[in-house]
Amino acid sequence: MALVVQKYGGTSVGDPERIRAVAEHIARTRAAGNDVVVVVSAMGKFTDELLRMADAVSATRPPRELDMLLTAGERISMALVSMALADLGVEAASFTGSQAGIITDTDHTRAKILEMRPERIREALEVGQVAVVAGFQGVSTERDITTLGRGGSDVTAVALAAALGADVCEIYTDVTGVFSADPRVAPRARRLSRVSFDEMMEIAATGGRVLMLRSVEFARRHGVPLVVRSSFTWEPGTWIVEEDPTMEEAVVSAITDDTSEAKVTVGGVPDRPGVAARLFRALAEAGINVDMIVQNTGANGMTDISFTVAKTDLGAAREKCLAIKDEINAAQVSTDDAIGRVSIVGAGMKSSPGVTALMFETLSDNGINIEMISTSSIRISCVVRADRVGDAVRCLHTAFGLDAVQS
Ligand code: ADP
Ligand code: ASP
Ligand code: MG
Repeated sequence: MALVVQKYGGTSVGDPERIRAVAEHIARTRAAGNDVVVVVSAMGKFTDELLRMADAVSATRPPRELDMLLTAGERISMALVSMALADLGVEAASFTGSQAGIITDTDHTRAKILEMRPERIREALEVGQVAVVAGFQGVSTERDITTLGRGGSDVTAVALAAALGADVCEIYTDVTGVFSADPRVAPRARRLSRVSFDEMMEIAATGGRVLMLRSVEFARRHGVPLVVRSSFTWEPGTWIVEEDPTMEEAVVSAITDDTSEAKVTVGGVPDRPGVAARLFRALAEAGINVDMIVQNTGANGMTDISFTVAKTDLGAAREKCLAIKDEINAAQVSTDDAIGRVSIVGAGMKSSPGVTALMFETLSDNGINIEMISTSSIRISCVVRADRVGDAVRCLHTAFGLDAVQS
């Protein structure tokens, strides 16, 4: 008998019919003799709907109250899934994140898990129940309700799997696994049967939202066997695994895209030590995460610094830069939210010269201008115009030989 954690995303529990289908799969897993813990997301796009409601009544959206509101979505799903299970004769009980013992810090809307105390989940399993847990939420050390950031139900599932010592954590979603590109952007993308943790982290960090980055990091750190599968076809899916040294690595495994960031340029700053430090300290103090950074070659002792931030942080980043503009003697601050990032990811890139050249040639052949570049040992990212991101993904997918063979 195994302990299985199953997470169902928004589309998977999007309507009553989907909820009944999910309940049937849980019932089958239980009937096969497994203990089952289920983690659910809010139905469909309900979290977005709740955010719109918050916007409609409040310009300030106090983070504590926003979290209280957002956790409502997952509560609806957990109760409905438990009811559907009851109708199938499966004993089930639902639990909020707080009841499941998910203790977080106090950083509302993007709280981090500090401790797992899933006693009530263990008790439910001991009496033969399926435990259905609301994803994406916890309770802070100040006893307030928190959320874990968008896509956070993946983290709930992996954290529970780690704390309970589960045999597998199954992430059920609306695609059949992790693909060589977002299948909505590149119709010729292929499902990968396995992908290494290193690659999955790069994919998740650069726009492949199929798994939230923090869930991948958590799974690796705690050795949680992780698989992404479809709740529509129940096919085997994609395993996230440690790199196997006996296997030949693909040079490029996946192409990702991300249009969630914007660019800020602080222009005409003196090219001397301390300027960048002052700028990025100010941003850090405002809690703004900076992603790519480019400093242009100076001329006449002056230079430009450009960086990207989440679009949701753009207003705050601009304000911060304007606030210290005079202090760092900058000439101007400009922003651009019509950018996108395309990345190529592959563990075999480390030992293959020519990958960068092929990426740049392919973009150039397709008339796509590169505005910023960043790399890791297994990833190359380019910032391009947002309206060319889809084209960039598709031409790179073809150039790196990833297109599925058309039947
Ligand atoms: P869920 O609600 O189940 O958590 P998400 O919308 O968060 O689902 O993630 C699934 C989506 O991720 C897919 O519908 C797909 O469009 C997108 N996606 C982006 N990149 C990839 C990729 N490389 N492989 C698979 N899906 C991807
Ligand atoms: N419902 C939350 C969101 O939409 C959490 C999740 O689905 O993982 O971000
Ligand atoms: Mg998700």
